Amino acid sequence: MSADQTPRVHRLNSTLANQIAAGEVVERPASILKELLENSLDAGATRITIHLEGGGVDLLSVEDDGVGIFPVDLALALERHATSKVATWEDLQAIHTMGFRGEALPAIASVSRLEIVSRAHGQKQATRLQVTGGATGAPEPSARAPGTTVRVADLFFNVPARRKFLRSASAELSRNQKVLRQIALANFPVAFQLFQNGRALVQLPAALDADSRAQRVASIMGEGFLANALYIEQEDQGLSLSGWLGLPTYNRARGDEQYFYVNSRPVRDPVITHALRASYNDVLFQDRHPLYVLYLKLPPERVDVNVHPAKAEVRFRDSREIHDFLFHTLRRVIAEQGGEHPQVTVP
Ligand code: ADP
Ligand code: MG
Repeated sequence: MSADQTPRVHRLNSTLANQIAAGEVVERPASILKELLENSLDAGATRITIHLEGGGVDLLSVEDDGVGIFPVDLALALERHATSKVATWEDLQAIHTMGFRGEALPAIASVSRLEIVSRAHGQKQATRLQVTGGATGAPEPSARAPGTTVRVADLFFNVPARRKFLRSASAELSRNQKVLRQIALANFPVAFQLFQNGRALVQLPAALDADSRAQRVASIMGEGFLANALYIEQEDQGLSLSGWLGLPTYNRARGDEQYFYVNSRPVRDPVITHALRASYNDVLFQDRHPLYVLYLKLPPERVDVNVHPAKAEVRFRDSREIHDFLFHTLRRVIAEQGGEHPQVTVP
């Protein structure tokens, strides 16, 4: 062994560290849209407007009327591990917000030209900050109603290898629309609009009562789904399941119209998938898939949301109980109602 111990370990500079994190949370425009929408929702927004150009690759902006960011917090909000949402280990055990990792903004800013303009409620002025490929400019005064706008331009302009993995503008656009549908189905009181190249493609007014919630479901899932779905509400031992369960007779060749939320968070989870599959097992062919929009609510201590950088997965502390609750509830509903409707199948 050589006596010369020239150091080989060094700390990554923050831009590089953020770009590494971006590899996990910023795959494409739709993953940015998800993070920005979650931030707007966490800020208590009631109206959110999305603008896309080139499917979100050239430009993706999200504008909200939420609480805004104080000028003193703005630069820090763009740094890694900086968040207003958790402070202690206890907070992490019972997450009440969509975000908590303090990672999205710096990761996005490290691979794009990002501009954030925010005016906190009670402030007379807005503040604007620009970050280009991770290099932060100086904050400057700006004009805006209370709330926040984040504009992300030229995604991956500084990481051409990642840019190559993006698909056509129309393919990226449809992924963005899918993210919006997923979030809109879990946030009825919030009004959403989506524009592509200046043209309004989605307009969802705030849905504040049962009728307008059903209307939003119909406009996202189709009238046919609403006519062929049962609205359910079940509670047992701190677990609640509600939402629209498609009749087995109304099924598809692909399982892409399935929405399942855990405490308002869209998740993929093998326990849930298995319980749903098993519930429909006797009434649906193996290669057909049901449609549903279902909401599981449980005390946040019973589910760990900190298992996946994009927060798409969760870990239940008592997965057996969750599975059985879902399976028994759904199977009973399906068995009671399933046979009474005419056979309707859609491609
Ligand atoms: P996280 O959401 O995990 O906290 P982010 O990097 O997404 O991390 O955001 C960092 C912080 O910036 C947030 O904790 C929040 O305080 C602030 N922030 C981001 N977007 C908004 C917004 N639209 N409105 C108000 N505050 C925001
Ligand atoms: Mg966030």
